[in-house]
Amino acid sequence: MPRSTRSIEMKTLCLDCGMDTTPCTQSRGCRHTGRWEMYMVYHRVWQAAGMGKGFLCIGCLERRLGRRVVPEDFTKAPINRHASWETERLASRKRPASP
Ligand SMILES: [Zn+2]
Ligand SMILES: [Zn+2]
Repeated sequence: MPRSTRSIEMKTLCLDCGMDTTPCTQSRGCRHTGRWEMYMVYHRVWQAAGMGKGFLCIGCLERRLGRRVVPEDFTKAPINRHASWETERLASRKRPASP
């Protein structure tokens, strides 16, 4: 690891496709609304995907699982509450299929 006084950037790239799951330009008026895939699923789901540390976008998580992610896969963590910054894909997975 290179030793540096630079602040360590938090990387949240998808392990499989390299998509930045939390894109942000850090500039004023940054438009990351609807572009974040920050979520938390239960450990067993994460393990089933063969994951330990790291991040996956929803698409790659589902490819690894071989199925669609369902609302029950998400933990009750505050991070999973609906927010305007999440992608439509992620939002749809957290919505119950039928009332
Ligand atoms: Zn991905
Ligand atoms: Zn931003």
